[in-house]
Formats: sequence, structure tokens, C-alpha cells
Amino acid sequence: MPLKIKKPMPYQRIKPQDDCMREECGVFGIYRADSGVEPAEATYYGLFALQHRGQESAGIAVAKNGQIEYHKDMGLVSEVFKNGLEALCGAQAAIGHVRYSTTGDSHIANAQPLVISSKKGQIALAHNGNLINAKELREELENSGAIFQTTIDTEVIASLIAKNRNDGIIEAIKKTVSLLKGSYALVIMTPEEVIGVRDPKGIRPIALGKIDNSFVFASESCAFDTIGAEFIRDLRPGEIIVIDKKGLKSYQGMGETNTALCIFEFVYFARPDSDIDGISVHKARERAGARLAITNPVNADIVAAVPDSAMPAAMGYAEQSCIPYKKALAKNRYVGRTFIQPAQGKREIGVNVKLNPLKRNVHGKRIILVDDSIVRGTTSKRIVEMLKLAGAREVHMQISSPPIKFPCFFGIDTPSHDQLIGSKNSVEEIRKLIGADSLHYLSIEDLLKTVEGAACNFCVGCFNGEYPEDVSNLLKCGKKNSLDK
Ligand code: SF4
Repeated sequence: MPLKIKKPMPYQRIKPQDDCMREECGVFGIYRADSGVEPAEATYYGLFALQHRGQESAGIAVAKNGQIEYHKDMGLVSEVFKNGLEALCGAQAAIGHVRYSTTGDSHIANAQPLVISSKKGQIALAHNGNLINAKELREELENSGAIFQTTIDTEVIASLIAKNRNDGIIEAIKKTVSLLKGSYALVIMTPEEVIGVRDPKGIRPIALGKIDNSFVFASESCAFDTIGAEFIRDLRPGEIIVIDKKGLKSYQGMGETNTALCIFEFVYFARPDSDIDGISVHKARERAGARLAITNPVNADIVAAVPDSAMPAAMGYAEQSCIPYKKALAKNRYVGRTFIQPAQGKREIGVNVKLNPLKRNVHGKRIILVDDSIVRGTTSKRIVEMLKLAGAREVHMQISSPPIKFPCFFGIDTPSHDQLIGSKNSVEEIRKLIGADSLHYLSIEDLLKTVEGAACNFCVGCFNGEYPEDVSNLLKCGKKNSLDK
């Protein structure tokens, strides 16, 4: 009897913003100064190291024989380049991008690097961040005859550079950045050079490295380790660095004294093996855990982490409190930050697929469970339930950052204000909602102590509503972003 093939169930990609803050992009760039490095290959591995910053699309553009060529598509780096890099090899320079989008506009047209041609030649551009005045700038450009192919603010930056290019690429970039408001770490490539740019407030990170004689840019220093490059330094807020066959040249643009590096890079986004503006991400997280132990001591049998990003903080808590660190939750390593789930599936199953309690470690125990943040609270509630079902006697949640009360306008995907559990509930109300026996957060002051000595000041806008730029217009009309990212 022939087998009956059932009609396949409709599948949907579950975006991970359901219950967490999401970084949006990672950028990488390299100019080959000697034959020891293959730019396309270095960029491929660099993007792999930055994959945690965006999993929806990936792309590499190369400068080869005076032309820019590129390949980009939806998916992870390994999926987008599954057929190899051959067509991109042999280039002088390369830039790359991994992207996570905030809205439904997650399609190939918005993947980066963005390559545009004008009468002054081609440029490729990769952007991490978000412009808060992109809509106005786009309207002005459209009124003067510009036509846009995408809905991303990166195209606004590319159009402005193309428009201002009469006096050379550096002048064009300087003129362009003087018009931009918001956050941006950019890598820009022409057939002759690669240029790294950091916004004047330093909201998004970008670092400079070197492999042999070739200079490299990356959103995070962990990408340098992956390709065997040495970390040189972070770009200064407002700095523009050009790398080409003559070497490296730095132009200090409109850097500001009231800098505002996104502190969430340390709380959650960045990889623990990265250093940003002089601070080790891992160490900052350990210090956050230790501060929690000092400010919110709790009697318990074990300290555990919600894997993976809260592990350094849990270790810091355990060390400071002398309570043993144990694993309470096992994580399915094969579930990425996005995963596919049947459309009819229950959302809670998502948490069960990712995490499972280690019953022997938690049964009968009083657990201090450390997490980096609570966004909507649905995941925390599910995890507490899960541990209690596995026999935990008490679950005390310790959060290594303050309550998130406000959305981000600077390149991080947050739920709207009313969906943030911290925006309308007291700590005690949140504790009741998630079912924990106790709940403590780190204060803003203590969080800032974990990054003391950094080369920058910090944005803590999602905790206190004080942003590095005036966002009153966006707040009034309830918009998170001026354009899609
Ligand atoms: S509002 Fe929060 S997430 Fe956004 S840049 Fe500031 S600290 Fe980072």
C-alpha cells in the first residue's frame, strides 16, 4: 500500500525578539597589504565570529580588479556561503555583514553589504546601528531625485556619500556623518580602500586589528582572534580610519566628550571573549555577579546561570558568596538564536526546546538563578516553573542588570514600551508574575561600576529613559525606529 504523504505543516521562523533584547548587526572589513591573507576568507571567518550579532542574513563584498563584487543572502554565514567563496577570492579588500532585522522587512533586498554605483564609482557599505533621523534625510534625498531600492537606513548613508563624493571619499564621509543622528559603526569599501567609521558618541563598537601587514575592522575583537589577527585598539568616537595600499590614516571627525557606548554590549550582546573600549566583557559580567552577591545576598545551596550569557555573572556571584556554582539548566547546543517551529506550535515549547533542567542538581535545592536581563518575563516565568517542576525547593532570581523600562532607538531590537515587564511593574510585582521566591536586580550605579575605567561613558537609556540623543519625536509617535533596520 502506498504511503500517504501528509501535507507539510506550515513553518515559520520564530524571531528571537519574543523575550530578549537583540543586537542587530556585525560588521567586518579588511584591506590586503601582502599576499599572506585572503580577504574573502578572512571576512568569512570574521563573520562567523560575529554571527551572534545577527542571524537573518549575511554578505561579503570584495574589491577585485577595480570592481566591487558581492554575494549576500538570507540565512546564517554557513548557509549563505555553502557553495564556497571561490568567486570572491583573489580580491584586494573585502567587507562583510551579518544582520538581524527588527521588523517584517527581513528580505534579501535589505541584506548587506549594500553596493551602490554612482558617476564617481562604486561603494559598498555595511552598517551596525540605527539612525534616528533617517526618515527626514531620506525624504530630503527623495525630494532631490534620489530613488531608493531598500527600506534600510544604510541606503540613506550610502546615498549621502554618493551625493557628496565630488571632493573625494573622505570629504564625502565627513559631510555625511555631520548630517547623521543616531548610532553607526560603518565599514565602507571603494575599489581602492576600506574605511571604518564610529559614530561621534561611540554608541556602537568597532575595533581595529592587524594580521601580518594587513589592517582589519570588526564589530568585536573576538573576530580578530578567530582569524589570527592582533587587536590594536577601538576606533575613537567620531573617528574615520582609512586602510589602503599606503597603510592606515586616521581622521578625527566630530568626536564628543559626552560619549555613550551601549552598556548592553557588556550585559548581553557582545561575546565574553571580546574587549570593548578597554574593558573585558567577561570580566565586566563577573563583576556584575559579584556586585549582586554583595548587594543582594541570599541563603541558598547552589548558584546557577541561565545559559550562556549569564554564566560569567553566576560565577562572579558564586565566587563572591562562597556558594557553589552548579549547572541547573542544560542548553540544547543545536538551537541557534532563531529556530524553526511549526506555526501551530506553542510558544512556551520554544523555551523547552532550548533549556532543560538538570533534575539531579536541582532537586530539593535552594537555587540562586542568575540571568542577565528580563525583557517581557515570559522566559523567566517558564524557567522558574521548569526548575520547580524538577524539584527545586526555592528559586531566587538575581538579574545582573537593572529593570529594562524603556525601548532602544539606537540599533537594538526591544519590544514596545508596554510589553517590557519592567516598564509597568514594580520588582515585587515582577517577582510574583514570574513565580520566583525572590528577585533582585543590579542598580544602574552598580552596573556602571562593572565597567569602570572604560575609555567611554555609557548609554543606560533602556534603564532610565535618558538617551544620548533627543528622541522625543520618536517617543511621541510611538515609533521605535525611523526606518527599518
Ligand atoms: S538604550 Fe539600552 S540597548 Fe539602546 S543603546 Fe542605550 S544602553 Fe544600549
